[in-house]
Amino acid sequence: MFICDKDRVKDKIETFARFGATGQGGITRFSLSKEAIQARNEFAKRMKALNLKVRTDDLANMYATVPGTDPALPRIVMASHLDSVRNGGNYDGVLGVIAAMEVAETIVRDKIPHRHPFTAMVWTNEEGSLYLPAMMSSGILCGKFEKEAMLLSKSPEGKTFGDALKASGFAGDPANRLNPRDYALMLELHIEQGPILEAKKRQIGVVEGVLGMVNYRISTRGQADHAGTTPMSYRKDALLAAAEAIKYLHTELDKLDKNLVYTTGELVVHPCVHTVIPDYVEFSLDARHRDPEVIKQVVKVIKGLPKKLAKCAVSYREAWTRKTVLFNRDLVTMVEKNVRALGYSSMKIYSGAGHDAQYVAEMLPTTMIFVPSKDGHSHCEEEFTPVEDAWRGINVALNTVLEADAVYPDFAGFRKLPAD
Ligand SMILES: [Zn+2]
Repeated sequence: MFICDKDRVKDKIETFARFGATGQGGITRFSLSKEAIQARNEFAKRMKALNLKVRTDDLANMYATVPGTDPALPRIVMASHLDSVRNGGNYDGVLGVIAAMEVAETIVRDKIPHRHPFTAMVWTNEEGSLYLPAMMSSGILCGKFEKEAMLLSKSPEGKTFGDALKASGFAGDPANRLNPRDYALMLELHIEQGPILEAKKRQIGVVEGVLGMVNYRISTRGQADHAGTTPMSYRKDALLAAAEAIKYLHTELDKLDKNLVYTTGELVVHPCVHTVIPDYVEFSLDARHRDPEVIKQVVKVIKGLPKKLAKCAVSYREAWTRKTVLFNRDLVTMVEKNVRALGYSSMKIYSGAGHDAQYVAEMLPTTMIFVPSKDGHSHCEEEFTPVEDAWRGINVALNTVLEADAVYPDFAGFRKLPAD
């Protein structure tokens, strides 16, 4: 088995934690911001120090490639993102980039023989913190979003993604894009962002796929009136109706599968004035489960909402949905085998969060490796994964990359789309 360098991993984690540091243990590093560019420069500097060529595509995704002994073979790629949410942590995304860098560095420094070129890649704008949607550039590369429309995506300050891209100096040649001809397969290492691995005392999550989900917008319509002069019995309070609708949904959804997760995270109240009875409320309902049948039942519950609550009209609409994404079974098995060979504990797991890998899975054989998140925290400054855990995950990635390099002489036969 091949092993990477724990001190180097530690150094990389500490170095990247400086770019956009909030001073409270986390980072704010929006895609293409000054802080994100510092992190990109660090990636380029370290990859160039290994004599690797660093290229960018038209969306500023970065690619640093270690040549293989057979240049005609497609590349094996590991990718993740360097951008964060506001007051995010030092592990989401960046650890996957560090893993890719460390795999490249180990292969180069230890002169590990390999036939396929190996690419360490950085995705642009995974979080969508300034420019919606999330997973923007993988979505464009995999045909989910139109590039022209995405270039117009505006930050809250009114700057477009296209302008930020131009100003960054990182926009390159579209010919450099990740594509199924030049690339054989993709691996993404990521923190779990949940509490399961830690609770079950497992060192590695062998990711089987990404949970399917539905996102609904539910609204209630009442009558705006004066908060002081309208007797309670006259009111049509849209917020009270929304509260009843949320309670109804919780009661009914709790009767479904115990692995179902659902959230109301957004609530819009109109006119949102303390002296006015709300006349319109809209809230989100996000529900996730690997089994499409359970998701269907969720939709049935939503459609079963009473048409009237607290004398207000209740309506709903689907905002968006995502089918469960299954990762490539051969790669999942290969990851599992390497975890065992390294003597680590593991469990199979589904990702509840979205990742660039879920789009790439439709283009290339793809899978993910999870490492534990302390107390399950993520998208916050408390996000933490011990170096030891990160290092183990990277060792799994390194050996999986090298096994894939050795055992797949014919990628054409390997390149099958995941089952729906
Ligand atoms: Zn991430």
